[in-house]
Amino acid sequence: MSLIVQKYGGTSVADLDRIKNVARRVKRDYEQGHKVVVVVSARSGVTNRLVEDAKALNSNPDAREMDMLLTVGEQETIALLAMALHSINVPAVSRTGAQAGILTDDVHTKARIMQISGGDIHTQLDSGKVVIVAGFQGRNKDGEITTLGRGGSDLSAIALAAALKADLCQICTDVDGVYTTDPRIVPDAQKIEQISYEEMLELASLGSKVMQSRAVEFASKFNVIFEVRSSLNNNPGTIVKAEVPSMEDVLVRGVAVDKNQVKVVVRNIPDQPGTAAKVFKAMADSNVNVDMIVQNIGRDGKANLTFTVPTDDAYTAEKAINSTMEAAGVPGVVVLTDRIAKLSVVGIGMRSHSGVASRLFTAFAEAGINLQLIATSEIKISVSIDLSKADEAVRVAHKAFELDKAKK
Ligand code: ADP
Ligand code: ASP
Ligand code: MG
Repeated sequence: MSLIVQKYGGTSVADLDRIKNVARRVKRDYEQGHKVVVVVSARSGVTNRLVEDAKALNSNPDAREMDMLLTVGEQETIALLAMALHSINVPAVSRTGAQAGILTDDVHTKARIMQISGGDIHTQLDSGKVVIVAGFQGRNKDGEITTLGRGGSDLSAIALAAALKADLCQICTDVDGVYTTDPRIVPDAQKIEQISYEEMLELASLGSKVMQSRAVEFASKFNVIFEVRSSLNNNPGTIVKAEVPSMEDVLVRGVAVDKNQVKVVVRNIPDQPGTAAKVFKAMADSNVNVDMIVQNIGRDGKANLTFTVPTDDAYTAEKAINSTMEAAGVPGVVVLTDRIAKLSVVGIGMRSHSGVASRLFTAFAEAGINLQLIATSEIKISVSIDLSKADEAVRVAHKAFELDKAKK
């Protein structure tokens, strides 16, 4: 008998038929004698709709109230799934994140998990029940409801699998696994059989929505092996773990694109030590993730600083820079924001092979795609491009590295 943690995302529970489908799948595993903990997301579209409602009432809604609002989505699903399971004679009980003992820090809307007690999950499992846990949510030490960042149900599942010492952790979604790029953009994308945490983490943090990056980070830290698979068929999915065979042989493992990025240009800052530090401290203090930093030497002792931030953080970033610069008595700083796309190619093989950048840039040049900012690390190259060229650029990059012919 195994303990299985199974997560179903938004599209997998989108409507009542899909919820019944999940209930049938859970029943199958339950009847095979497994202990099953199910983590669910809000039904697809629900969280986005709640965010829109909030923003329609207030352009900068309070983070605590936002968490209070957004957690509603998952709570709807846990109760509905419990009812669907009861109706097919599977004993089941729902639990909120707080009831499952998911303790987080105080950073509303992006809280980090500090500890998971599991609440009474083991007792419920021992008494023969399926336990359904609301993903994406926890509580802080004062009992306030928190959320774990968008896509955070993945993290709930991985963290629960670690805390409960599960034998198996399955992330069930609307695609058959992790592909060489988003199969919605490139129909020729290939399913990857096994991928390392390191590559999955880069793909996820660079925009491959299939996994939340913090969930992969957590899995890597606690060595939680997991499988990304479909909730609609029984095909084998993608196994994500520390080491996979022939990691170094594959030059580029995948292409990620993030269309929710804003280029921030801070103009007219004094070209002297400490200025950039002030800007980035302001970003860090506001919990804004910064990427692709470039500083141009300007004229007359002034410089320009350019970097990218997630679209959702653009307003916070602009406000934080303005108030820091004002407080530092630096007048005349101009902050410009502009939506862009960030495309990245990722692969551990880059460590030991050269020529990736030239191959990518040549392909873009031939396709007439203009590059703005470039950032590299040992295992990735990211470029920022015009938002309207994003999908075309993904197809070009995918083809340039022959990922459509990738061996599975
Ligand atoms: P869920 O609601 O189950 O959490 P998501 O919508 O968050 O599902 O993630 C699944 C989606 O991720 C897929 O429908 C697919 O369009 C997208 N995606 C982006 N990049 C990839 C990739 N490399 N492999 C597979 N899916 C990807
Ligand atoms: N419902 C949340 C979101 O849409 C969490 C999740 O789906 O994982 O971001
Ligand atoms: Mg998701």
